[in-house]
Amino acid sequence: MTLGICLPSSFSISPIPKTKGSITSSSIHRCFCRINSYDFVVVNKTNKKKLKPCKNYFLYSNSCDVKIPAAQIGAAELEDSTTKSGFKNLVWPSPDDEIPFWRREFPTWDVNSDDSVNAEKDSDLLHIVHATAEMAPIAKVGGLGDVVTGLARACITRGHKVDVMLPFYECIQRQHINNLVLISTYASYFNGDWIPTNAYRGEVSGISVIFIEPSNHFFKGQSVYGGSYNELEAYLFFSRACLEWMQVTGTQPDIIHVHEWQTGALPLLYWDMYQDLSLKKPRIVLTIHNMEHYGECSQEQLSKCGLDGSVYATEDKAVDDRTIGHNPERLSLLKGGIVYSNAVVTVSPTYLKETLCSGWLASTLLRNRDKYSGILNGIDSAMWNPATDVFLPAKFDAENFQGKNVCKHFVQRGLGLALEGTSSGSDRVPLVVCVTRLVAQKGLHLITHAIHRVDELGGQMVVLGRAPDGRVQREFENLANLYNQGSGIRILLMYSEELSHMLYAAADMVLVPSMYEPCGLAQMIGMRYGAIPVVRKTGGLADTVFDIDQGSQPELANGFVFEGIDQGSLNWALDRAFSSYREKPNEWATTLQKVMKVDNSWNKTAGQYIDLYNTLRVKW
Ligand code: ADP
Repeated sequence: MTLGICLPSSFSISPIPKTKGSITSSSIHRCFCRINSYDFVVVNKTNKKKLKPCKNYFLYSNSCDVKIPAAQIGAAELEDSTTKSGFKNLVWPSPDDEIPFWRREFPTWDVNSDDSVNAEKDSDLLHIVHATAEMAPIAKVGGLGDVVTGLARACITRGHKVDVMLPFYECIQRQHINNLVLISTYASYFNGDWIPTNAYRGEVSGISVIFIEPSNHFFKGQSVYGGSYNELEAYLFFSRACLEWMQVTGTQPDIIHVHEWQTGALPLLYWDMYQDLSLKKPRIVLTIHNMEHYGECSQEQLSKCGLDGSVYATEDKAVDDRTIGHNPERLSLLKGGIVYSNAVVTVSPTYLKETLCSGWLASTLLRNRDKYSGILNGIDSAMWNPATDVFLPAKFDAENFQGKNVCKHFVQRGLGLALEGTSSGSDRVPLVVCVTRLVAQKGLHLITHAIHRVDELGGQMVVLGRAPDGRVQREFENLANLYNQGSGIRILLMYSEELSHMLYAAADMVLVPSMYEPCGLAQMIGMRYGAIPVVRKTGGLADTVFDIDQGSQPELANGFVFEGIDQGSLNWALDRAFSSYREKPNEWATTLQKVMKVDNSWNKTAGQYIDLYNTLRVKW
């Protein structure tokens, strides 16, 4: 029998918890390793902080009463495999690490991918300015941030000039910005005052960003959203401050691309105010990432940015249809943006259809049908690339995915999940991940159910999510208290870009059980990282995931899809995924390779935005 022990020379270990019976001395250190289906505790008899292989160690099993002097241990099974694949010096994490593995220092991103060097350049080049509330990775809450960065990079790669205008949130970590310089000081109007404002230029992952920093309290606080200022008023200020900056600096891009309700007032300000000043050239594109958020606003609030709010209080302009007949009726910045933009895009063809059929904006969108289209989001192939991802303990790609096993093992160890082969049931333990904002849209009841079901099926699941709503947060805290002590489920209620990358890389399956999903990036990222998607058929999920067992086009088949919103429907998809993973490992590996090769990048779809920009541009 060959026993194995995984002890890279740089392995650092942490003190054993006081609850461990006879080996509780705080001077004794331990780590876990997997040997022939047993969990072992490795004890350093010399009380040194670092373990060196095969010197003065004893292996104690948690599950059987054996003690083996390490000197008698044979070839190191895990070490062997990691040595062969070049991971010899990997520092394996443990749940007891003082610094959790996702908060370690990581190398800086090199985003200058081959794509950008080798890509063909367009001939008729544009200047595009995005005005946005989010940008990945410095100010990201969800997909909006990813989309802005990914689309901007894809356009730059094709030779276009792109600037992103972003509020200079206090929470932005300046070390992630290169070459930050103050480029203008100017004043922008708000509520009867001209607010002294700074504009900085810097580079974020290779993209030029203009940061707008007002001297008042707007955008202060520890997070992108939810600061102790009036958010609606802050974004009204920002929308005007972007145009004001263009006006004072004489910047006339071809396209101003606005996103969501936050910059929905910019098209109104542009056509009804700045066109009468010196801004003449730009045309406006609005992308709606999620119709749930309307930017509901009183006439008085809109007037604070210098427009006459009462002018927009009509059904064909900006009255929020949900408030008609109420006293007072209110406005919707998103609706105003739809009416006043030259083109309106939503983020997938299926969501386009869904939004024309239902919802409070359907009649506005139908009235503006000629300029409304659906362009599927992509993922930023520089940021989301398992072959170069700086957050991964081991890199991999579709041709060589041994590194994916290392990532899974790494995450399992770091989170204290049972290592494969130690759980009851089958030897193959599927790991399901769900990385999401914990909001109703994402199918909270199905996420909760999936946790129970995965546990029941003997799989593992990690949920990484943040709940903006206190009630949801408490519900998931209760679940975490219930499950996180075991060895199969981890519910982590936080935001971590680094951990999200590692989870996608570790996952066998990525779960997206949304009630509705305008596009969804998690399933696309999951696929690129070799995780098979298990999704509900809605919006962009229906455009990107095709059932392996049911579809009429087997060449597209890439995941497990269900339609209902009930537990049974989810079980049907999840159970099939588990059976396939456990019973057909070869087929699974083929599918895994296939999904990793699916091109969901912006390189594929950015061209549709560029075509749209070109139909709008005004030549001077
Ligand atoms: P949405 O925009 O509705 O939040 P998407 O699927 O379009 O959903 O995009 C979500 C993005 O946010 C993905 O990049 C996902 O990995 C990321 N994300 C969501 N929650 C978290 C979290 N708690 N920690 C890290 N990343 C997260």
